[in-house]
Amino acid sequence: MSTKPFNAFEMAQAQFDRVADLLDLDRATRELLRVPMREYHFSIPVRMDDGSVKVFRGFRVQHNDARGPAKGGIRFHPHETIDTVRALATWMTWKCAVVDIPLGGGKGGVICDPHHLSMREQEGICRGWVRQMWRNVGPLTDVPAPDVMTTPQHMLWMLDELETIRGEHLPGFITGKPVHMGGSLGRTEATGYGVIFTLREALKVKGIDIRTCTASIQGFGNVSQYAVRKLHELGGKVVCVSSWDQADQTSYAFFKADGIDADALMGIADKFGGIDKAKAKELGYTVLPGADWIAQEVDILIPAALENQISADTVGRVHEKVKVIVEGANGPTTPEADEVIKQRGIFVVPDFLANAGGVTCSYFEQVQSNMNYYWERDEVLSKLDTKMTAAFHSVYEMAERQKFYMRDAAYAIAINRVAQASRDRGWV
Ligand code: NAD
Repeated sequence: MSTKPFNAFEMAQAQFDRVADLLDLDRATRELLRVPMREYHFSIPVRMDDGSVKVFRGFRVQHNDARGPAKGGIRFHPHETIDTVRALATWMTWKCAVVDIPLGGGKGGVICDPHHLSMREQEGICRGWVRQMWRNVGPLTDVPAPDVMTTPQHMLWMLDELETIRGEHLPGFITGKPVHMGGSLGRTEATGYGVIFTLREALKVKGIDIRTCTASIQGFGNVSQYAVRKLHELGGKVVCVSSWDQADQTSYAFFKADGIDADALMGIADKFGGIDKAKAKELGYTVLPGADWIAQEVDILIPAALENQISADTVGRVHEKVKVIVEGANGPTTPEADEVIKQRGIFVVPDFLANAGGVTCSYFEQVQSNMNYYWERDEVLSKLDTKMTAAFHSVYEMAERQKFYMRDAAYAIAINRVAQASRDRGWV
């Protein structure tokens, strides 16, 4: 028996179709929103270090820009496919709409493996990508950012190429720049903090005092590290985090009943967020199999590592004490697990709402770059809090009013906003 390979774009379309039915969306709007408005496929010839020329395939997909310039990262990946880029561009449209920032959805990619490319060759790919796309990207059309295996340095090479071609400074063309070169303060902590801002609001509407709550988090990377810090600042307690162990090729969970110490664990983690288990034991942590993060007797679960982690196989391990799941990662929960979570009455803050702090802060970076005037960190983070809090409440109100599951409510808000913008423009 052959199983059909996973196709992210088919999944994105199936999610859209389901909510389009719930909203009773008209035919023309469905036809407009279920496929990208524009796609670019191109070749990037690069002179390699050995003197030969290699041709890389590049993509940019602009799913919908009815609400503003397209926004989304550029990924470098050996297995990149156009359907993955289409799906990610679609999800960016919904993510920007749910937090109500005036941007559309885009995504780009290059089929390549940076592990096997020199920095000079990577620079060639970045500059080549812009040489192919410069007519169709820019601060007022489409604003890229880093994503899988792309970095602030890649963004700077792309910016420099665009500015060289256009003969002007356009720092609002791209986000994820280093702070000293037009990046925004607060971007590093934005996603993790945003996760906790939405959690704080979820606990308020559920009438739960955050100071009585314990949490278990999967992952200890960028999102998790700042989520831990913010939750502790608000009086909650994270008792477990987990991480991938490169040497053992498995994951471990790190438990401490009186609360983990994010600074101490960061001091013994590698740059990929992998915690040294021998040193963790010395610091008094109990080291458990990685999968045990989900089974902890806590009030809150925060998957913040990978997709497909709360599934039909694992959801049965969720402790009866758990009241709230906040999805820091993208796509951590499968539709089968969603059904169980619904039956058990666990409250969910869905991924593209909970982790939208990153793109919200990227939007702030773009605004600051366009003005060429940069805000203090506190100003950025307080604006982030305002946006995330408002987004949570609009989704929660929709869920209450329509008796929707929170994930469906988030989709409904986002799709409604993009549909309305398309109607207002007279497109449909
Ligand atoms: P990261 O690479 O900084 O950290 C990932 C963490 O997960 C590391 O601690 C790693 O050890 C751990 N990990 C990897 N495999 C694991 C496993 N099998 N079991 C347990 N832990 C494992 O990544 P990040 O930036 O923190 O992103 C985490 C998730 O959040 C991803 O799904 C990402 O797409 C999503 N996200 C991130 C941002 C952002 O701004 N960083 C924004 C939106 C969404």
